[in-house]
Amino acid sequence: MGIVVVGSVALDSVKTPFGERANALGGSAVYFSYSARFFTDVKLVGVVGRDFPRAHLDLLRRRKIDLSGLRVADGDTFRWSGYYENDLNEAKTLDTRLNVFERFSPDLPESHRSADAVFLANIDPDLQLRVLRQVVRPKIVAADTMNLWIATKPDRLKALCKEIDILILNDGEARQFSGKASLIQAGRTIRSWGPRYVVVKKGEHGALLFSTRGVYAAPAFPLEEVFDPTGAGDTFAGGFMGYLNRRGNRLDEASLHQALFYGTVMASFTVEKFSLDRLKTVTSAQIRARLAQLHRVSRPRSLSSL
Ligand code: AMP
Repeated sequence: MGIVVVGSVALDSVKTPFGERANALGGSAVYFSYSARFFTDVKLVGVVGRDFPRAHLDLLRRRKIDLSGLRVADGDTFRWSGYYENDLNEAKTLDTRLNVFERFSPDLPESHRSADAVFLANIDPDLQLRVLRQVVRPKIVAADTMNLWIATKPDRLKALCKEIDILILNDGEARQFSGKASLIQAGRTIRSWGPRYVVVKKGEHGALLFSTRGVYAAPAFPLEEVFDPTGAGDTFAGGFMGYLNRRGNRLDEASLHQALFYGTVMASFTVEKFSLDRLKTVTSAQIRARLAQLHRVSRPRSLSSL
């Protein structure tokens, strides 16, 4: 059991209506790993520069995330900076410095090639495809992407769609990728390009799952205050995939629905503070409590009380 994740390991500078933080630990693979590790073993594949703080590596090691596939290269770590206005669903990118990522070509260690679950976090789709060529028949392959790649490499993303089981993306990305204004049409169109399942995240409005059975809508966790949404998507994917992997990679509808709930709960923690500050203090009991609360809010009240 276990998941191999390939993605960015970053130093993020983020400004929200509630504060700002420079050079904080971030990156798609980091948020994913930290979240998925609550459920299963995780092997992180990525690259950092020589400037990457040792304390961040120690944090990931203490969490028992396998870092044998993380390279330290000459140069600076990938840096992303962005801000959010009152619509916290939309990150505005100010600057992306690929740095060591520019020459990154993921080569999986031998021990990673037989993983039964693979998550291709948000990176260049050519790199995502390269990883897929190195693994031997995983039971689940899921991928994420972002507006940058949809705009610059739509054909490579479509090629990726043919080779994965699940594509996870947010509502804006689903509309952009499919060219459809209706989210239902967007999900269906993307599914017709290959993935058996498409998950469309709608921020504070929950998530949709597209499958052969049609559309399933999962609610969002009713959080009163969102502080910094950075990493919510990757944390969601970590909870979603982590749960599926722990359940033996079963892709039946009931498991997928519960996985959506777990993804939602994990993301609800990340957005409460900057960087991984909140995730670092989460306990299993808190995860269980929020899962129960999410089930409660989505269950219909008795009709007789109407
Ligand atoms: P999300 O979960 O969608 O909020 O993703 C947030 C993370 O994506 C941040 O920690 C960033 O470091 C990372 N990120 C932003 N732009 C890119 C990019 N072009 N490639 C890879 N990772 C990125």
